[in-house]
Amino acid sequence: MVTHHSTDPENYIGLRGDNLDKDKQYQINCGLPRYGEIVLKALTQSPKIRDGIQITELNLCHRQKIFQLKNPKPQSPQNTVRAAAGTALHMYAQRRIKNPDPTRYDVELLVEHEDWIFGTIDLYDKENDVVVDIKTKLVDNERWEIKPFSSHEQQLKDLMALKKSRNGVLIYLLIGCSNNPTVEFNYEMNEYELQLQLKNLEKRAASFFNAKKQSNPALAEYVFFNKSLNWLCHRTDKKTGKGIFCPYYWDCFTMIKQEKDREGDEESISDDDLADGSNHDMEEPS
Ligand code: SF4
Repeated sequence: MVTHHSTDPENYIGLRGDNLDKDKQYQINCGLPRYGEIVLKALTQSPKIRDGIQITELNLCHRQKIFQLKNPKPQSPQNTVRAAAGTALHMYAQRRIKNPDPTRYDVELLVEHEDWIFGTIDLYDKENDVVVDIKTKLVDNERWEIKPFSSHEQQLKDLMALKKSRNGVLIYLLIGCSNNPTVEFNYEMNEYELQLQLKNLEKRAASFFNAKKQSNPALAEYVFFNKSLNWLCHRTDKKTGKGIFCPYYWDCFTMIKQEKDREGDEESISDDDLADGSNHDMEEPS
């Protein structure tokens, strides 16, 4: 007999009777723990990181990350699985990279700035001084316009600045794309641009570090008005048509409104300020 149990309470399909507590109902039916929930919990555990700031922490919305540290809320099971799938694919790709030639390449090269900002370069070409960052992308629509995500570009440029390398390559391993298994984008920065990038990285890291230390989301940078990232705040699921909100949406909305009121900003904010993110490609958190 095959039975179906969803970790999403909305979609839970019980085996018998709707008026029983769902956990009791499950226990009665099979006497086993909910393994799906155990797996989801394991997926949401944060990896242990070194003291200081990892540049991967500076991805996407800082405020959401501080909210999450201060007041952890479960993400939707769909988001959890999606995030874990992205991370797992990236880790898989990293593990599979064998050093083609240790005299020429470094794999998983640690870089740091003044012992408090850290990063890891997937592949570093010592001969040509090129930083290579590898990303994975699940392609569920082959007509997806293959373009780099802004946060991935930022991360690569941060790594180039940390390594003081003028050249960098962003490689996407495309999963589910029959035409091209990989696509790559080349970047070049001059000395001045590298210095600017490092200064900007220091600024972002210091602001994130301060918000984290004080456990205060109001001090963190946010993406509410950033048209390429505000799908994190609210988007419409393409398949179900349901609205998917950041778990801290209303807290953040109130916070921004208060900030605007304090500043006497004539431009008031409303929910309409947000573009519907349904047409944006979502960036995977690798
Ligand atoms: S609502 Fe948007 S800006 Fe605010 S915390 Fe969430 S993702 Fe960040």
